[in-house]
Amino acid sequence: MSRMLLLPGDGIGPEVLAQAERVIEALNRDFGLDVEVQSALLGGASIDTYGTPLTAETLAQAKASDVILMGSVGGPKWSDTPFDRRPEQGLLDLRKGLSLFANLRPAKCFAALTDSSTLKPEVVAGLDLVFVRELIGGVYFGEPRGIEALADGGRRGFNTQSYTDEEVRRVARTAFELARTRSSRLCSVDKSNVMEAGLLWREEVTMLGASDYPDVDLSHMYADNCAMQLVREPRQFDVILTDNLFGDLLSDAAAMLTGSLGMLPSAALGESGKSSLYEPIHGSAPDIAGKDLANPCATILSLAMALRHGLERPDLAERVESAVARALDEGYRTAELTGGSHRVGTAAMGQAIIARLHA
Ligand code: ATP
Ligand code: MG
Repeated sequence: MSRMLLLPGDGIGPEVLAQAERVIEALNRDFGLDVEVQSALLGGASIDTYGTPLTAETLAQAKASDVILMGSVGGPKWSDTPFDRRPEQGLLDLRKGLSLFANLRPAKCFAALTDSSTLKPEVVAGLDLVFVRELIGGVYFGEPRGIEALADGGRRGFNTQSYTDEEVRRVARTAFELARTRSSRLCSVDKSNVMEAGLLWREEVTMLGASDYPDVDLSHMYADNCAMQLVREPRQFDVILTDNLFGDLLSDAAAMLTGSLGMLPSAALGESGKSSLYEPIHGSAPDIAGKDLANPCATILSLAMALRHGLERPDLAERVESAVARALDEGYRTAELTGGSHRVGTAAMGQAIIARLHA
């Protein structure tokens, strides 16, 4: 028996997670999955009940789980609270507390969403790449940092871009391993031409590739060139390994090439065998919360990633991914998606996917 913790969070989080939970129930009932599900509060929902976005109990529960599936956190209700007490801080503390150093962000364009006359111009048919972004190091966490007063009466804000060799190697390992399950091509992205942390990054990735992954075709690219290539010819990429900051920017850009925020899952992995966290890349979307409008696919596809990476059931991961693709192929669409023949709400989309798990 494996243990899964559900963290519905805020806004549309509880609505989309409810559909993923129904998929889990169906997999437990009909497909030999053996997962016990618990739930806890995170983010604004936790602030409202406990006064803090992540309680020690919830963190302990997360550590005791094999996989954690999250909805989304945040919303206008909590936007005036100080930084360290915002809903988003709960998620940051959770990632840090679980040492989730590798963020997998696939940018995949579903075939069914590219054959419509209303196709958005930026969407790239056939796109299928994955970012492996370092998640708990780099300039977002480096010390020293701060805002200081200057002698001349002005102020200076500063942060530190910092990576240790071990921080680079552990996330690089995740990327090399992932590349082996795909086309064995890995592109590592840095700014080693202008940053010392970037130079160390490139050296460590190169050495690890030569010693442990000679079968993987490793290339390197500067981050600015990568931004350009993502616009020029994004289909050249398979797995992209990069740091926290570049990964944040580049993976958001790539997400737009797929046409829908509501379709994109993500995973945050630590050491193998430890708990891992899965969540849609979209936010809490307060504008559509509570209206049965949210697309549950990103969350259901996040569940598929949990099945593949955390629960060692790649067979069920493929089953879930195929069910989502088939629901799209057969014309099911939530409100924000183009094309299709059946306009459905959140719950009906979940039902359409569950009904297609069987074939
Ligand atoms: P955050 O700061 O939490 O990331 P955000 O406003 O930047 O929030 P989202 O909450 O992801 O971004 O939403 C952006 C817009 O995309 C929303 O207004 C919503 O209409 C749409 N959207 C996001 N997720 C979904 C979804 N699952 N289904 C349908 N529409 C969505
Ligand atoms: Mg956002």
